[in-house]
Amino acid sequence: MKIRRRLLFRLSLLLALPVMGGAAEPKIKVLIVDGQNNHDWKRMTPWHRAQLEATGLFSVDVSTTPPAEVGWEAWRPDFSKYQVVLSNYNGRPWPEAVKFAFLDFVEKGGGVVVVHAANNAFSGWKAYDQMIGLGWRGPEYGRRLTVSESGAEEFHEPNDGPGAGHGAQWEFQVTSRDEGHPIMKGLPQVWKHGQDELYHGQRGPAENLHLLATAYSDKAKGGTGAHEPMVWWVPYGKGKVVTTLMGHVGPKNDAIQCAGANLITLRACQWVATGQVSLPVPAAFPTAEQSVILEK
Ligand code: ZN
Repeated sequence: MKIRRRLLFRLSLLLALPVMGGAAEPKIKVLIVDGQNNHDWKRMTPWHRAQLEATGLFSVDVSTTPPAEVGWEAWRPDFSKYQVVLSNYNGRPWPEAVKFAFLDFVEKGGGVVVVHAANNAFSGWKAYDQMIGLGWRGPEYGRRLTVSESGAEEFHEPNDGPGAGHGAQWEFQVTSRDEGHPIMKGLPQVWKHGQDELYHGQRGPAENLHLLATAYSDKAKGGTGAHEPMVWWVPYGKGKVVTTLMGHVGPKNDAIQCAGANLITLRACQWVATGQVSLPVPAAFPTAEQSVILEK
């Protein structure tokens, strides 16, 4: 009798699980990689983690690179357990085995979201360049992409125009370049981002690059006078890689708190994992003239 009762108890637990879990959909598994960055990654990772978890769609783990030589070669994040790798990493090249595992992960369909200075990383790693399309590199490093006033994409050869840089920080407008894309759907065509660095002159192979948003880099702010790529994606193997350049974190402001930049990061994580986006545009969202900064 005892055994039978236990069995019944277990069965009832199993039956109750889907109800207790709420949503029938399993959560999307995200791994945030951090540990080195020229930005305060210790402030950035908790923000991204909390925002992802608050949607109820994601479960989040963090893999932090070892702080020093000790343990570096033994560091082995298991990418294969996840659907998304969110890179908050801008530091020394990963161990060869980790690079290999990362490529394998993306080739087999893993999703990657690269935020702000994570696109500065890994200069010289050709596969990473291919994946991100454009990175923070010198003018000789590769092609540059800008968008004309009429909306046409214009590619520039190496050494034609500037390499990577940014002018003063300011609140700039972000313009959607693919309003039908799930990540951009429902966002205003133009909206004002919170105070941030506006990266310009990004360089790379820029192959199979799908531009989602740009920002006008005003010369009066130390920019280029061109519409610079701000959000884009590149297919790599069976995987998808989204880069969003927004999200500087500094002593005066955390641009990751912009409601627009935040939504794009969240939607990018959902999209690279599932090919779909269900996250709605929140009621408090920037307009063309007014930015919206979320509370910490
Ligand atoms: Zn920055």
